[in-house]
Amino acid sequence: MAEKVFYGLLGYPVKHSLSPIMHNSAFKALGVPAEYKLFEREPHQVESFLKSLTEQNILGLNVTIPYKEVVIRYLDWLSPQAKFTGAVNVIVTEKGYLKGYNTDGSGFLRHLTQDLGFEPQGKEAVVLGAGGAAKAVVNQLALNKIKSVSIYDIDRKKAGTLVEKLNKEFPLCKAQLISCLEDLDLTEVSLLVNATPVGMKGEPSLIKREKLHSQLLVYDLIYNPPQTELLKIARERGARVSNGLGMLFYQGAESFELWIHKPAPVEVMRKALEEAIKEL
Ligand code: NAP
Repeated sequence: MAEKVFYGLLGYPVKHSLSPIMHNSAFKALGVPAEYKLFEREPHQVESFLKSLTEQNILGLNVTIPYKEVVIRYLDWLSPQAKFTGAVNVIVTEKGYLKGYNTDGSGFLRHLTQDLGFEPQGKEAVVLGAGGAAKAVVNQLALNKIKSVSIYDIDRKKAGTLVEKLNKEFPLCKAQLISCLEDLDLTEVSLLVNATPVGMKGEPSLIKREKLHSQLLVYDLIYNPPQTELLKIARERGARVSNGLGMLFYQGAESFELWIHKPAPVEVMRKALEEAIKEL
């Protein structure tokens, strides 16, 4: 019988993660002798933990808050997406060699295109937020030939830096800074993404109701609560809406595929995730 191997989530804290249920259901469905565990480690333990992966039979990790940036210094190779975002959410070990990926953006894109039928090419988008998740989202939109991306963040400097980076690395995508949401015109915009935490605690939407329209797809990365105020008012205005559960699901499916080199059993994983989220 094959020796049991391990995968898991590195973070601090990691207690309420939905990832074990999603990945363990997938291992079971494919008959892979592996277990996905939670690895809660304090900052001073991260380096030694990463150096001991091979001896602990840990073949891959997801990485979450607060270590997505910190782990980079211990990795041997980074994917282009991890380089652009400066953040890693998946580590693959290959004979002691550690490779870092970012599947937040590709998970978002897969949900957007495969399930929601939205093709970014030639479209205009507005992204709220310029943090880790926003970087992953705009990187994928630019890679998929979006015509323009306008970015807003409470930290204007952070948004400006992301705009500059996009314009430098993707000259065919016009990136611009939104200085004031009051002046924002969404008439020509077909995709609005919330990549800020605003809405997690029932806060009012950053975008005023009257600006939303029926030609928009409004995508909120937040999945708990399942309907933020932004999604509620967007739906009332006739827009198509999505929360971030699909992104969470596909970033997990893509992590699984990087580790196992087989297509993820997506329906099994989706069902497990949907069941688990009801318990939150
Ligand atoms: P992050 O790195 O902290 O970025 C959030 C950004 O939003 C920060 O730049 C923050 O600025 C900014 N912000 C906060 N309040 C704001 C406001 N009132 N107006 C404008 N900007 C504001 O966090 P993240 O990791 O990117 O995550 C962002 C959201 O996406 C979270 O809700 C997270 O749960 C969600 N997410 C979902 C998935 C998924 O799979 N569905 C994956 C990743 C993240 P300051 O730093 O100055 O506060």
